[in-house]
Amino acid sequence: MIPLFDYHFHSDYSSDGRGTMRDYCVEAKQKGLKEICVTNHYCFYDGKHMNYFDGFSTYGLFRGTLDDMMEEYEETHDEFPFLRIGLEFDYRPDIERDIERVLKEYPLDYALGSVHLLGNLCITSRKKLPLYLAEHTLEETYRNYFSMAAKAAQTGFFNCLAHFDVIRRYAPPLDFTEWREPAVRALEAAKGNGIALELNSKSGGDPAPWMREARALGFDALAFGSDSHKPEDVGNGIAEAMALARKEGFKHALSFEKRKAARVRL
Ligand SMILES: [Zn+2]
Ligand SMILES: [Zn+2]
Repeated sequence: MIPLFDYHFHSDYSSDGRGTMRDYCVEAKQKGLKEICVTNHYCFYDGKHMNYFDGFSTYGLFRGTLDDMMEEYEETHDEFPFLRIGLEFDYRPDIERDIERVLKEYPLDYALGSVHLLGNLCITSRKKLPLYLAEHTLEETYRNYFSMAAKAAQTGFFNCLAHFDVIRRYAPPLDFTEWREPAVRALEAAKGNGIALELNSKSGGDPAPWMREARALGFDALAFGSDSHKPEDVGNGIAEAMALARKEGFKHALSFEKRKAARVRL
C-alpha cells in the first residue's frame, strides 16, 4: 500500500473551512493517512478587490491571527506528530512583498501558491467565474489563468503550485489542445524555479494530459491534496490520485518539513 499524504486542507482558520486541526488529525488517523498538512487561505486584499468574495476583510478568507494559528498547530502537533503546517497563498503580483514577509516571519513547513483571482474576480467561485466569462472567451480565460500561474511560479516563493488546473473546476470544459501551450509555459516556469506541482483530488476532470506534459519536462514527483474544507473529507480521492500519478510514470510523492521536500516512492 502506498502511504497516503494529504497536503491541502482548510481548518476553521479559513472562513470557508470547518473543524479544528485536531478534528482533521483524528479523522486522518482513523483513515490511516501517513501525513497531513493544513493549508489555510491567506489572501491579502483591500477595498479594490472586494469583488473577490462578498464582504470585506483585511486578509480575505483568513480568520483569526497567524500567531494563534501557529499556537494551535504546536499544540496539535504535540499530540499528532504527523501534522504539518502550511498556508495557501492567493497569488497576485501586487502582494509579493506581503507573501515574502509572512514566509520570513512564520516557520511554516509548506507554502502553497494559488491563483484564485483574475482581475478582481475569483475564478474558483461558482458565482464569480461567470462574471469573468461574460467579458472573456473561454480560451482567454484559460490562457490568463495559466499565465498568472506561471507568474506565481516565477516568484520562487512557494514550494508548490496548488491545483495546477483549477480553472477547469468550474469553467466549461475546453479541449486540451486549446490550453496546452499556456499550461506548458506555466509548467516550464515551475520547473525552472524548482516549484512542485499539486495533483488536487477535488478538481475533477481528467488531469492526465497536463500530467504527461509535466513528465515530459522532467517532473517525476507530485504533491497531493484533497482541498477538504471539512474534517470528514480529509484524504478524499488521494489514493486514486496517487495511483493515477504512478500510472502516468511519476515516481514519488512529496512531503515537506520546514519548507524542505522529501520524496516517498509511489
Ligand atoms: Zn485553492
Ligand atoms: Zn484550498
